[in-house]
Amino acid sequence: MNTTLKQIGTTDYHLTDCHSGLERCNGELFQANCARDLQRLMAHAARNGQKVITHGGRHAMGGQQMQERALLVSLKNMNRLLSLDSRRGLATFQGGATFKEVIESLAREQSEKEANNIWCIRQKPTGVDAVSLGGAIASNIHGRGLNLAPLAGDIEKLTVVTAGGDILTLGERENQDLFRRVAGGFGLFGIVESVTLRLKRRQVLERQVQMLAVEDLLTVLQKRMQEGAQYGDFQFAIDHEQEGFLTRGIASTYHPVQVDADALPELTRNQSALSPQMWRKLICLAHTDKSEAFRIYSKHYQRTNGQLYLSDRMQLSTYFDGYHREMESHNHGSEIITELYVPRNFLTVFMHRAAALLRKRRANVIYGTVRMIEKDTVAALPWASENFACIVLNLHTEHDRDALRHTGETFQELIDLALALKGNFYLTYHKFARPEQLLRGYPALPECLQAKLAYDPQERFHSNFYQYLKLSLETFRQTEH
Ligand SMILES: Cc1cc2nc3c(=O)[nH]c(=O)nc-3n(C[C@H](O)[C@H](O)[C@H](O)COP(=O)(O)OP(=O)(O)OC[C@H]3O[C@@H](n4cnc5c(N)ncnc54)[C@H](O)[C@@H]3O)c2cc1C
Repeated sequence: MNTTLKQIGTTDYHLTDCHSGLERCNGELFQANCARDLQRLMAHAARNGQKVITHGGRHAMGGQQMQERALLVSLKNMNRLLSLDSRRGLATFQGGATFKEVIESLAREQSEKEANNIWCIRQKPTGVDAVSLGGAIASNIHGRGLNLAPLAGDIEKLTVVTAGGDILTLGERENQDLFRRVAGGFGLFGIVESVTLRLKRRQVLERQVQMLAVEDLLTVLQKRMQEGAQYGDFQFAIDHEQEGFLTRGIASTYHPVQVDADALPELTRNQSALSPQMWRKLICLAHTDKSEAFRIYSKHYQRTNGQLYLSDRMQLSTYFDGYHREMESHNHGSEIITELYVPRNFLTVFMHRAAALLRKRRANVIYGTVRMIEKDTVAALPWASENFACIVLNLHTEHDRDALRHTGETFQELIDLALALKGNFYLTYHKFARPEQLLRGYPALPECLQAKLAYDPQERFHSNFYQYLKLSLETFRQTEH
């Protein structure tokens, strides 16, 4: 290929997802440096009848960025801030920029301004920073905003390279249909080359922390939101042998306060924070002594009541790649995440039912949280089909066949619980959902798969996850007849 596009490794490049390590594939790995590279790659794929799939941070766990023998494209080098419109609060980034890079570039670009009044992101995924903008759009991610819809609502426009190799600008006013499909389209409708994000003014936020029973959570959150809280979550107890399992936790909310930029360093100097070593210890304890892990964690959180944070930096997190390798007792497995949604008035019912189910199935819960999401009015295949409460569960699983089957069945039963309460589930974390669950949670799926063929008749963008969606639909149709 005559191009600046760099081919990395051999044609047998081996790729795995970062968190579970369970999704994998071999293919040719390319590093793109610009839109022109992506066009050349698409032309090369067309000439050779090859499939293409893009990857960012590889944090999706359902094989969305995996396709055996495909051209695997990384946009890691396409991570620059291209422009900042300070009047309208819009920033354009290349599609490979991670959220950490986005936050840092915006701060650098506005370094002459008051630190607590610059333009910054509205939301990012909570548990990990090395997620790319392209990957985030593909899953239509969310953070811990109390009144935010998923990321598609934060996007002014995108440029994508289509299956045919064209560069198109997409937005709510331009190529709107394709825009709605790329957002939450798992890389199957185009490669996101650049993204124009709608920003908000950075604020200083005060964290308020309270130990609560899940029964009281909504009332407390509503009150805190009336008082101006913008972000928040509820991190619940994970020991299934204890009474408060899933139903007792720490509610943290973040409230804007007026603080002079000059005074901020002094005010935050001695704030309590967990060191990386302490984080590692907590992750280990979550596997070996869950009550102790929750006790230390909640004590730490309670100590931080009243502490001040910048609204973008507060969203950064600590994540250790491949942390299971360091854990002698649990190094033959990993965590898999699942995320369920229920109408908010069913949150308490769901948590009690989920606790009973997870106890019965002896599930190994490592971490869990409840957040809020507003209805998505943009994506063609929305997961936030209503204003929901979101329940995130990180389960440890061993990697042998029986353990994986057991974990898969647990996820299926959790999905059943959510669907029975008119809720839904997130697609980015695994592909354990059964065909009828997929169709119930995502009734627009058949139409979206048809649209995929209209935009990409050769199915140039292809992945294991796409294969799973197609197969599920086929199975569903066969069992219907
Ligand atoms: C520990 C952990 C915590 C997480 N926390 C959250 C959370 O709080 N909220 C949340 O919503 N999600 C969360 N996630 C999920 C994560 O945000 C999504 O899976 C996201 O898609 C990962 O982006 P990535 O850059 O890692 O992309 P990858 O995993 O590499 O790819 C994901 C999808 O994006 C596509 N893609 C990647 N780049 C592009 C591009 N430039 N153009 C088009 N398509 C592209 C791929 O083809 C694939 O379909 C978490 C995941 C982990 C492991």
